[in-house]
Amino acid sequence: MGINESVDILMVDDQPSKLLSYQAILEDLGENLISATSGKEALELLLKRNVAIILMDVSMPEIDGFELADLIRQHPRFQKTAIIFISAVHLTDLDRMKGYQRGAMDYISVPVVPEVLRAKVSVFADLYRKTRELEVLNSELEERVLARTEQLRESEEQVRRLNGQLHQRVAELESIMKVLPVGVSVAHDPDCLVVTSNAALKEMLPHGAPENYGGENGSLAYEVYRNGAPLPLEELPLRRAAATGTAVGRIELEIRPKHGGVVETLMSANPLFDELGNVRGAVGALIDITERKRMEQALRERADLLELASEAIMVREVNGTVLFWNSGATALYGWTPEEALGKNLHQLVDTKFPVPEAEISSIVHEGSRWEGNLVQHTKDGREIVVACRKILHRDAAKAGEVLEICRDITASLQAEEALRRSERLAAMGRMAGIVAHEINNPLESILNLFYLLQQHPSLDLQARHYAMTAEQELLRISHITKQTLSFYREPAQAIAIPIPALLDEILQLQSRELQTNGIALERRYSSRELVHGFPVELKQVFLNLITNAIQAMPQGGRLRVHLQRSHHAQRPGIGISILDTGSGIRSEDAKRLFEPFFTTKSTKGTGLGLWICKGIIEKYEGTIRFRSTKLEGRNVTCFSIFLPVPASEASLLDLVANVEVES
Ligand code: ADP
Ligand code: MG
Repeated sequence: MGINESVDILMVDDQPSKLLSYQAILEDLGENLISATSGKEALELLLKRNVAIILMDVSMPEIDGFELADLIRQHPRFQKTAIIFISAVHLTDLDRMKGYQRGAMDYISVPVVPEVLRAKVSVFADLYRKTRELEVLNSELEERVLARTEQLRESEEQVRRLNGQLHQRVAELESIMKVLPVGVSVAHDPDCLVVTSNAALKEMLPHGAPENYGGENGSLAYEVYRNGAPLPLEELPLRRAAATGTAVGRIELEIRPKHGGVVETLMSANPLFDELGNVRGAVGALIDITERKRMEQALRERADLLELASEAIMVREVNGTVLFWNSGATALYGWTPEEALGKNLHQLVDTKFPVPEAEISSIVHEGSRWEGNLVQHTKDGREIVVACRKILHRDAAKAGEVLEICRDITASLQAEEALRRSERLAAMGRMAGIVAHEINNPLESILNLFYLLQQHPSLDLQARHYAMTAEQELLRISHITKQTLSFYREPAQAIAIPIPALLDEILQLQSRELQTNGIALERRYSSRELVHGFPVELKQVFLNLITNAIQAMPQGGRLRVHLQRSHHAQRPGIGISILDTGSGIRSEDAKRLFEPFFTTKSTKGTGLGLWICKGIIEKYEGTIRFRSTKLEGRNVTCFSIFLPVPASEASLLDLVANVEVES
């Protein structure tokens, strides 16, 4: 309610004329004037409105003023409502009125003096307004006090909560420090005079937790080294961070406690600041990496070993992808690790498995080791044979990875094969010699007998023809045995043989064949060196080779016989090559050429010619090789022989002029 708001004034009188006169008197006050003509009406109005002042006649017919005031006062809402009685003065009435002094009360006697009534009403109206105003102010004040109290309670609660959180945080931090496997030390002043450290640090450095890093007299129970050089105390990360106010990154330091041993560590430190931004200390962390360093070293050594190994060592995934490729693998196969990693191993080296690959993998994946020979290919396309071992990686983390170790055994297999062959040949040769020797004598007599049989008069023409054919076949047998024998017969004494003369002698013998077959001969002898040996043996060699060449050219061609000085495996000697343009040698036959009894001439050949040649040449510690290729649409076959010559002879022969013979 504002100070100028008008208030409700209830006027109660049973005489409307009186009500009208009060109204006229009070109109000027500007309040709300409400009239009631009976006590009942007055009560009804009171309940509906907030009446400030009741003006009532004491003497009314049904209920008089005092009775009405009684009723009104009983209601708590109206206990303080101001009541003004209007009445003729009666002492008794006034006495009665005192009974109601609790609330505001007044009395106006009749005849009503307008100024008096107006003054009294106006005082009560102002009083009412003031009281209401005070009430409003009071309740506002109360509300504000309440709100303020609530605020205080809330902030108190907040402080308590924050305090609790802070305690929890501190406890958390403390337990983190306790369980952390990292050594932590905290310097509580920039000079690191007071340092506390956690359990892990004390465990790492049992005799020297750095309680006194700082100051001039700071000392430690250990020495610290960086990259092998001692580290001054003030260079320790904690002290550096506290001194400079900047973080010190992870640095590797080696701690050598004075009581012995070495702890490899990784240290870092961060400065701590106060609320003004000044350095107030530092916190340092230290990780023990001794074990890690040891493992790194072991791994490095293992890697070195793998690299040193001459065997090819590879690790691949189950699907074949190469994960590791050592230098042995590079040496064996030719691919560098960069080229091999990530590729499929067995596709790369084109492995041919001796059994189905799945069979091998199932053995390996059951955890057993597989060993066997594999045929593989190198980067430059060579076929090699490797002895291979495969095992599953034992490391659980690398489960499924397969380790393969391969060793090249191509050369040793070839050597074995060569040995087997030469042993077989030697044995066969010996046996052939023995057989030939044993057959020779009875054969002679059988031949003689057939000669006689053929001449015998009792034979008819057909029988004689059979005998003659049998004799011819026998002659062939005899020829074979003689050839075999001549190879094995021990000659008397080795002599110096001029090879050109020997070759000429043979060519002379074959001149008729050359002519009839239309073969052009070309000779070129550019060395006159002498070979120590037996002429029969060497004649046999060249005769066989030249005969083969002629036989290969039934339709004519070119025969070239060359002789020159040569070297083989750093030994001096002479090289003789016999080249023809005949049928050539099929590659499938090439491997078997030197085997005894291998011939492509069916009944016309013995298959012993080249075998005998090889035997003789090997006896002279020489070599015999051949090549057969197609050149300009013609087959060219060339047999080359190297015969060593004693060194003294070779140098002497250097003085002799090279003579070329052409025909
Ligand atoms: P033979 O001459 O009795 O068959 P060899 O041992 O002398 O036995 O020769 C073996 C085989 O070698 C011959 O059958 C022939 O197939 C092949 N051969 C040897 N020399 C030549 C050549 N110059 N040209 C083609 N084939 C040859
Ligand atoms: Mg022959």
